[in-house]
Amino acid sequence: MESWNKQFDLLIKSRTPLILLRSREEERVETLIQESTKRLNPKRLATWNYIDGLKGILNSEGHAARQPMAVLEWLQKVDPSLPTILLAKDFHRFSEDAGISRMLKNLSSELRSKTHTLIICAYDWIPPVDLNDSLTILDLPLPQENELRILLTNIAEASDSNLSKESLEELTHACSGLSEIRVRQVAARALAQRGKLSNSDLEEVLEEKRQAVARSEVLEYFETKASPSDIGGLDALKIWLDQRHEAFSDEAREFGLPLPRGVLLIGPQGTGKSLTAKAIAHSWSMPLLRLDVGRLFAGLVGASEAKTRETIQYAESMAPCVLWIDEIDKGFGGDARSDGGTSQRVLANVLTWMAEKTSAVFVVATANGVDRMPGELLRKGRFDEIFLLDLPSQLERHKILELHINQRRPNLNIPIQTVVDRTEGFSGAELEQTVIEGMHHAFSEKRELLETDLILASSQLIPLSKTAKEQLDFLKDWASSGRARPASLKIN
Ligand code: ATP
Repeated sequence: MESWNKQFDLLIKSRTPLILLRSREEERVETLIQESTKRLNPKRLATWNYIDGLKGILNSEGHAARQPMAVLEWLQKVDPSLPTILLAKDFHRFSEDAGISRMLKNLSSELRSKTHTLIICAYDWIPPVDLNDSLTILDLPLPQENELRILLTNIAEASDSNLSKESLEELTHACSGLSEIRVRQVAARALAQRGKLSNSDLEEVLEEKRQAVARSEVLEYFETKASPSDIGGLDALKIWLDQRHEAFSDEAREFGLPLPRGVLLIGPQGTGKSLTAKAIAHSWSMPLLRLDVGRLFAGLVGASEAKTRETIQYAESMAPCVLWIDEIDKGFGGDARSDGGTSQRVLANVLTWMAEKTSAVFVVATANGVDRMPGELLRKGRFDEIFLLDLPSQLERHKILELHINQRRPNLNIPIQTVVDRTEGFSGAELEQTVIEGMHHAFSEKRELLETDLILASSQLIPLSKTAKEQLDFLKDWASSGRARPASLKIN
């Protein structure tokens, strides 16, 4: 927070006339500005809201209630010898008004010589283009670790909770990513139930985060029990993932290794990309968050950037976690001309975050092809590695069929070599479908599953590799030039 405070003080000292402070945490914003005014003595802080009007200035209490223009006029007239910060709440809602918009522009040049600053606090406001040059945007990050520690210590002291040092640290760590209000709410619930704060509140903190994810529209909290042993083949990918898992440990940090960033899985439909994303999260004991890129772009124009920021914050708050970006090629392959460049901007935000992130968020992106994929995503260094998940080899088909038979008929031991031979070009999902169809057949005849059922089922299924051959060849061609690693150990 110290660096944020410095940044904010600098903006005020350098006479920034108009600041858009992006945050949902109105109370925290007010406290932080209050602290800044003390540091920047003799600045004073006035707040304004539509219902109560002006607050914090002697003789002007309640002035300009329900009159947004009047409060701007008030600020315009404040004597320059009384440097003032005006925090106007919800003010962005009035910016569409022609008069207000003009006045904001006027103020942005007049205030420069007057030492006053107008701060508009809003989270998802996209300022009109003609205000862009007049506004300075500053994001307020969620409470940092030391802020959370102070907040929790204060709550613990006020409630005689006698929190041990270890418990305080655990709670502080768990609360990262929650807003101050949410932390207070969790604490209030804990106090109401148990009368004190303790590390038994950790589960509630986690639940609060899950709730936050559930509210987010764009992210989905994915419960999964899939494990690498449910994946047939893809051995090169599995070995690589084991290595990366180890790179999350403290020993790896001490060794000087950076935190793993993520992996991009490219392959035709049904080759196990989603299954791999789920298996990574489950076997690494990390929550799996699925990002619906389509929803990122749905809704109001301009809202996508705010949603992206929020999504990143949520993902970081759940760290260590796996962030699964499904169908990244379709989501970000939008046409810049048709969406006003939104997908480009959002992609740029995501890429910057991926490059700079210091949190243990492992990104697993999945895609069916590369033709629509923005080139930036394929550039070396974006992901730790790019894997091509090809259609399974003969050996892999054997393993996949065996797995799916075992999952459903655990003690059954039937020969499957013929069906393995006859299913060249089948994807994992199609092999699973073959097993299910074969089982339907056997079940309808009230007998155990036989290889002939599987052979019949496979002969009735036209694999995607036949219908989408061109697309597959293109993909393999692309990958063979060294741009992606094969996920299987060897092709046979
Ligand atoms: P899409 O591109 O359509 O999203 P995908 O590559 O993500 O496809 P999955 O959803 O992972 O494919 O696969 C669908 C199902 O097929 C899996 O749930 C699993 O049951 C089966 N499957 C696919 N590949 C494998 C595999 N290698 N081993 C075992 N099962 C597999």
